Formats: sequence, structure tokens, C-alpha cells
Amino acid sequence: MDLISIVVPCYNEEETIPAFYKEVTGVMKKMNVEFEIIIIDDGSKDKTLETAKQLRKQDKRVRYISFSRNFGKEAGMLAGLQAAKGDYVAVMDADLQDPPSLLPEMYEAVTSGGYDCAATRRTNRKGEPPVRSFFARMFYKIINKISDANIVDGARDFRLMKRRMVDAVLQLGEYNRFSKGIFGWVGFKTKWFEYVNVERVAGQTKWSFWKLFKYSFEGIMAFSTTPLYISSVMGFIVCIAAFIMACFYAIKALIFGDPAAGFPTMVCIMLFLGGIQLIGIGVLGMYLSKTYLETKRRPIYIIRESEDDSGGNDRD
Ligand code: UDP
Ligand code: MG
Repeated sequence: MDLISIVVPCYNEEETIPAFYKEVTGVMKKMNVEFEIIIIDDGSKDKTLETAKQLRKQDKRVRYISFSRNFGKEAGMLAGLQAAKGDYVAVMDADLQDPPSLLPEMYEAVTSGGYDCAATRRTNRKGEPPVRSFFARMFYKIINKISDANIVDGARDFRLMKRRMVDAVLQLGEYNRFSKGIFGWVGFKTKWFEYVNVERVAGQTKWSFWKLFKYSFEGIMAFSTTPLYISSVMGFIVCIAAFIMACFYAIKALIFGDPAAGFPTMVCIMLFLGGIQLIGIGVLGMYLSKTYLETKRRPIYIIRESEDDSGGNDRD
């Protein structure tokens, strides 16, 4: 029988984990497979870890990994993928926004459908502020134009992968992880499942607008160097424009004399050039900072305790 590992990154999800567990075990019972649920407690401040431990006591198919602090969802997913023992690995949110009822179809696609991966995308963005939807759409348009990782609009992190693909994903050992890009970049045959967006069962979303905004920049920088190219091209264009203008004014002064005008023009040009230089330096700096973090080779997450080494304070 196949073993399916279900990786669930959790940050302050004490309210949703029990519901999640119930739903998933219900679906799994109907499938002819073995499974394990790996709960990654991403430094939660509530009782997420206790809830996970409680479930572990009742059901040994539940495993947990608890981080020493909040390392972010990307780190959580990585830890889960590394810990997963399954022939197939699924990544799911704890809040039931990723319907477990899709799992049988997804499993079917990767076992008998000839696919390596079953991924999901939502078809609408119901229950989301319009500004956020607008920026999200723009982000997908831009990143697909300027990078070679094919990133699907509305793609969720919810997916089921074959072991081979999981190993490929794990080979990408970068510090700045942008999963949506990584999954696309490794390739493999992917079948897309669509579903209508559902709102989370309980608790709060962990993503503020600015967090998402930052995340989108990180995605672009992790998968494209086009911004560096754009700033070079911009510099080049401005230089040529400046040269033409210089010629024009020199000739004009020779023919008509210089009545000492042109102060506003100077100010505009100076501001414009200053702006372009700052943008260029900023873009350069962002890439440099990413390189700096990569070269430090810091661990992506730190485990405080997990079910197989109980950190010395788990008494069962
Ligand atoms: N999450 C996490 N670490 C974080 C933020 C979020 O592990 O720092 C988890 C969270 O517990 C949930 C999933 O990532 O299981 C998706 O988060 P959320 O539902 O808040 O995002 P949304 O669905 O609103 O995009
Ligand atoms: Mg959610």
C-alpha cells in the first residue's frame, strides 16, 4: 500500500487543527492508502503544539515538528517535505481552505493518470479585498513575463507530489525560498485542479497586505534577474537622451546665444537622474542582500522539538 504524507504548516492554528484532522482522516479512510500527517508548528504562540501532541497521543499516524520560533510558511513546508517518508507527499493549509475532498481525485491523477503532480488553483478570489486581488493579478502577470518559472495565477500551495518530484524540490537548497516558483521551476507533469475559494473555518489569516507585497518582491527576485537588466537599460536610455540634449543646447547656444535660462530644466533633469540612480542602487542592493543571506548558509529553520526526539520535556 502507498504511504501518503500530508504536510501541514501551522502558525497559531489551535482552532483549526482538530477540524482539519477530522476531515482528512475521514477522506483517507475511504482511500485505500496508508498516511501520515506531519504538523509543523511554526513557532505558534497559542496551543498549536499541545493540540498536535494530543492528536499524536491518540493516533500515531500524526507526527509533529515544532520550530524554535516563527520561521514562516516556506520554512514550514520545507521541514515537512524533508521529514515526509511517503511515496506521495501532499502540502495543505490547516484552515481547510484546501478541500481534502479533492485528495482522492488528485491521488488518482498521480497513480493511474500518468502525472507526477496534482496541483490546485482557485478560480475566484471571493472574500478578498479588491486591492489585494488587483495586486495579486499584476504580480502573476509580471513574474510570468520576466522569469522562466511558470507560475499559475491563483495557484495554491495545496498539491500532491510523487516522491521523485519531492526529491527534486529538496535539491533546491536556497535560503530565500519561494515555493510557487520552485514547484514550477522543477517541471514535471502537473495536472491542475480548480476549485472555488472557500474561507477559512476559524482563526485569522496570517498574511497582511504588506507581508504579501514583500513576498511578491522576493518571488520576483528569486526567479528573475530582469529588474537588474531593466535598470541598466534605463541608465543607457537616459545617457543617450542626455547626449542628444547636450548637442542640441550647444548648437542652440552657438547660433542664438545663451540668455541664461533653463534653470527649471536643470532641476527636472537632476531629479530624474537622481531618481533613476536610486532605483538602480536599490535594485542592486536587494539582489546583493539576497546573495549575502545565501552565502551565510544559515539553516532555514531550527527544530525545538519533534515527535521522535521529544526535546526532553515530553513525558509520554
Ligand atoms: N503559516 C505558517 N507560518 C506563518 C504563516 C502561516 O505556517 O508564518 C501557515 C498557516 O498556519 C496556514 C497556512 O500557512 O496553515 C496558510 O496561512 P493563512 O491561511 O493564514 O494564509 P491565507 O490562506 O490567508 O493565504
Ligand atoms: Mg488560509
